[in-house]
Amino acid sequence: MYWQKDIETVPREDLEKLQLERLRRTVEIASRSPFYGQRFREAGFRPQSLKSLDDLRRIPFTTKEDLRSGFPYRFLCVDLDRCVRLHSSSGTTGRITVIFHTRKDIDSWTELLSRSMYAAGMRTSDVFQNMMSYGLFTGGLGFHYGAERLGALVLPTAAGNSKRQIFFMKNLGTTVIHIIPSYALSLLNTFADESVDPKEDGKLRIAFLGAEPHSEATRRKVEEAYGLDAFNSYGLSEMNGPGVAFECTEKAGMHVWEDAYILEVIDPATGEPVPDGEEGELVFTSLTREGMPLLRYRSRDLASVYPEPCPCGRTHRRISRIKGRVDDMFVIKGVNVFPIQVETALMEIPEVGNNFVIVLERTDRGDQMMVKVEVNPSSFNGDVRSLTDLQERIRRRLRSEILVTPKVELLEPRSLPATEGKAVRVRDNREL
Ligand code: ADP
Ligand code: ZN
Repeated sequence: MYWQKDIETVPREDLEKLQLERLRRTVEIASRSPFYGQRFREAGFRPQSLKSLDDLRRIPFTTKEDLRSGFPYRFLCVDLDRCVRLHSSSGTTGRITVIFHTRKDIDSWTELLSRSMYAAGMRTSDVFQNMMSYGLFTGGLGFHYGAERLGALVLPTAAGNSKRQIFFMKNLGTTVIHIIPSYALSLLNTFADESVDPKEDGKLRIAFLGAEPHSEATRRKVEEAYGLDAFNSYGLSEMNGPGVAFECTEKAGMHVWEDAYILEVIDPATGEPVPDGEEGELVFTSLTREGMPLLRYRSRDLASVYPEPCPCGRTHRRISRIKGRVDDMFVIKGVNVFPIQVETALMEIPEVGNNFVIVLERTDRGDQMMVKVEVNPSSFNGDVRSLTDLQERIRRRLRSEILVTPKVELLEPRSLPATEGKAVRVRDNREL
């Protein structure tokens, strides 16, 4: 049940020893980059003075802004000669940043992904369809390498072209898929068009859902519609990409691979650590990278640590679902709202369909929040205006979740544009 039993079940004490050893090496490597060289000098930090894991806190945080200002080479610690690949963040929140990888970096990242997929139950006999965009985005190539090394048959179908996805799935007997959760839901529309039931042949057994926040209700919806077990997969390109944290078969939080990353959880406002179990911003330090290690990188992602040991025997700590990025939050009528709260409320209502969007407008009577919701095809009777009872139920359910009463507009199935990449859940028109 383990890919690398020794390291996955290593006693915490030994894990921390390994972390310290790797951290010292990482800090030494990092000091060779122009960026960290200067950072360390300014902060009066000497790499040799790092004696314990706690000493990490003497190093300042690294931010997305730092990466932007260091574009493209200021973080590089080795000759460009030794780099074999470049990846980039998808640019969801601004200017592009890049990460360089040496052969060794790619190798250790690949191991983390094989380990993750194995932990969720994938084996050599599986047919793995990777429905993530290939290219600068890390989701495609990252999983691709990991799945090949695990020994599965990989179908690199990449994102989009829904009909072809279904064609391959059904004709090649796909058993495992990797897919963005919002795309998993919208792909159901194409399944319906093709009169194909994703679960009818009983081949599909595992889905890896990642790259965007999604609720437990969405997981269940995907599991039921596709007839499989879905596992949450978390990563960010600054920390290689996917394979930072991954669910085991317990499906109760994601193990952070702590032999490769040091995790800190901080209060985003003060930068101070928060106690286990409390929500905060995830901060990561890479431990196995030589091309471009990052120290105390502020992910902007919000989650909490589950300190209890996992029944699976892995000793690496788990984190909760990601609530979203700090900057995903919007304020409406003085209340802070995360899109995931809206998703959670909506996906629990069976008559709700596969897509929704939140629209924020400025009016004479103050700011308005409108939630446009597609109706489930099986609940659609030809006229959404007749579904006033459903509309009222959605409004009440949203109010109890977010403490603001939004306007709710019901839409016919598949009237909202489906995205192949990360879903954009909020249209904020207030500054227009
Ligand atoms: P970008 O930051 O431009 O979106 P990335 O491709 O590096 O580029 O995306 C990483 C981000 O995607 C994470 O920081 C997080 O916000 C989000 N993400 C990735 N996996 C998950 C997941 N399983 N749950 C929630 N959010 C996720
Ligand atoms: Zn576990």
